[in-house]
Amino acid sequence: DKQYLLIPGPTPVPPTVFAAMSRPMFGHRSDDFAKMHKGIVEKMQKVFQTKNEVFVLTSSGTGAMEAAVSNVIKPGDKVLTLNGGKFGERWTKMAAKYGAVVDEYKYRWGSAADLKVIEEKLNSEPDYVAVFATHNETSTAVTNDIAGMGALVAKHKALLIVDTVSSLGAIEFKTDEWNVDIAATGSQKALMLPPGLGAITVSEKAWKVVEENKTPKFYFDLNACKKNIAKWNTPYTPNVTLFVGLDAALDMIMEEGLENVYARHTLLANGVRAAAKALGLELLADEGCRSDAVTAVLSPEGISAEDIRKVLKNDYQITFAGGQDDLKGKIFRIAHMGFADKMDMIIAIGALEMALAKVGYPVQLGQGVKALQEVFLGRN
Ligand code: PMP
Repeated sequence: DKQYLLIPGPTPVPPTVFAAMSRPMFGHRSDDFAKMHKGIVEKMQKVFQTKNEVFVLTSSGTGAMEAAVSNVIKPGDKVLTLNGGKFGERWTKMAAKYGAVVDEYKYRWGSAADLKVIEEKLNSEPDYVAVFATHNETSTAVTNDIAGMGALVAKHKALLIVDTVSSLGAIEFKTDEWNVDIAATGSQKALMLPPGLGAITVSEKAWKVVEENKTPKFYFDLNACKKNIAKWNTPYTPNVTLFVGLDAALDMIMEEGLENVYARHTLLANGVRAAAKALGLELLADEGCRSDAVTAVLSPEGISAEDIRKVLKNDYQITFAGGQDDLKGKIFRIAHMGFADKMDMIIAIGALEMALAKVGYPVQLGQGVKALQEVFLGRN
């Protein structure tokens, strides 16, 4: 059966990317690889809007996050983590595992981190080694104000370390302008690749900490990455095929143009939000911080989101994501990131209307699709 994947990662991979990945295998110490690697890094620097080094890692996004933590943190370091969802919580857990003394600022899942709280914390604790933030909190469909955080953290010795796993390539991210010291991302979301690659940027301010750091690590040693990238090498055998795919996906992004890529994500998000509203559904995320990459919709009173998801999958081969932890059953999430366009959303909302009807929600068929069409036609 034809399947429609609308989860926030892994996301659909463009046929041209898969086609590129059928390239016969070649060695990672070859000139061919070095040339491709150089091109990839240059394009990734454009997407990250940075002059900093970008290291592509053969790992999932969490590996890139762990590279950040294990190269910066030593036991006893004070850090601030911002937890507004599953992935902010991951920073907390990871930093604690590496022996950090974690001050966790927990904000309501569905809201954005309050800059005033961060400012107060930074002013009352001069010893933070790092602040760990999440640009796009996939679990709640909230986008945080990293520019605002960067302006605050830059005045302190702390490094700003940001998870961009579900935002890079969907929502504008300005590493240098926003004073982001380390940004970590993954391949299987807006970068339109299968899972299996991570990437990380490292600022000058961060290198001073990374170079001194003695925390045990081997595979994710950024100093080794730095040494190797001078010759466009990687320390160990990378996933050559995914690098080929990344090169092709970045070409697609460059061809569309970053501004157009972001505008497309905004349009799709506006459409899905309008459709939810037209169907009388509420969103989890507060207004003003709603993600352009994914939308979290609250299930109607008395109806489990899991029942809606089951109908979507069984009757229409459509996969939405559910909620995690306390949000399970309460929300469903529609991704509109990466290789996604208007007609994908028409399909998603059209099927959602039918699924809502089946689970007994008083839906007026066509209202959601109509709202989407109006947004797409620029009438709304
Ligand atoms: N951070 C965010 C914001 C994510 O959305 C994800 C993946 N859902 C991760 C981190 C973890 O990435 P991975 O599953 O690739 O390790």
